[in-house]
Amino acid sequence: MFEIKPHPELSWSISRHKTLLECPRKYGYDYYVSHNGWLRDADSLARHTYRLKKLTNLEMLFGSIVHDTIYQVITYFLKTRQVPSEEKLIARIRQQLNQGYIDSTRREHLWHDKPKHYTMLHEIYYGHFDQLPEHKIAKIQRRLSSAMNNFLTSQTFRDIQSPENIRFVESEDFRYMTIGDIKIYIVMDLVYRDLTNDKWVIVDWKTGKSSAEDRNQLALYALYLKQRYNIDTLDKIVIRNEYLLEGYHKEHALNSTDLINVQNLFGMSIQEMSNYLIDFEKNEPVEISQFPMHQEERKCARCNYQELCFGT
Ligand code: SF4
Repeated sequence: MFEIKPHPELSWSISRHKTLLECPRKYGYDYYVSHNGWLRDADSLARHTYRLKKLTNLEMLFGSIVHDTIYQVITYFLKTRQVPSEEKLIARIRQQLNQGYIDSTRREHLWHDKPKHYTMLHEIYYGHFDQLPEHKIAKIQRRLSSAMNNFLTSQTFRDIQSPENIRFVESEDFRYMTIGDIKIYIVMDLVYRDLTNDKWVIVDWKTGKSSAEDRNQLALYALYLKQRYNIDTLDKIVIRNEYLLEGYHKEHALNSTDLINVQNLFGMSIQEMSNYLIDFEKNEPVEISQFPMHQEERKCARCNYQELCFGT
């Protein structure tokens, strides 16, 4: 039976680490206060926080639809050896974006009740009218027309269309490894073995800009793969970022220093996270008021929790 726990399990990920750096109060809301907020009889703050946690924005919604679409195209290709047309894919993505807008503007009551199953856009929730900013619509239109074309002509999709040369390892499942007793969640977009040169290829589809933490993220993927499949050397692992907006890919060679760096980052980050715990074993947090607010006008304007912080 599903067990209701008073505190979440302590786990680690690069995005959790980035959230803590960005704003400890946001981290507190994301990883503690929202816990159990999906339960009907949870307290109203947990439910409110969970709802806000589920807000998305146009760029994130676009990225998530593109990732799902790519996953479906690859699955479909492997089953049928057919590739849907670019026009068809663009139309499907556009339709899902429209659905997100309709959910946000006409189905707020449904989202309010089941925030996991409906979309609420930050731009609408915190906007004054049911209108999306014109500049954002134009940005997503531009992204839409380039992302699918760049995917269909990408190195990775070309490789996939020679299935005799590759073997798929895993897809977008949730996987984790542990360091000590702590789970580290790993979400890899695509992994395959290139049989022509005996390499393991990890692919990360990018629909946004690169960040300084990307290399650590990739090192974590490599560490996971190396341990999970007993790969003897890092030379056999290729890490590839496919930049779908710009239409190019970048492959990274990692060395053992990268793996040591990411393990050190994990250690320092867990240490920092433990400062916000009363009880490390139970992962019981301090009061939310003790998570400092890193207030910055631009950052707070984009944050899901502004109405909890400032009552706006
Ligand atoms: S609104 Fe600002 S201070 Fe509040 S959680 Fe978000 S980033 Fe932190």
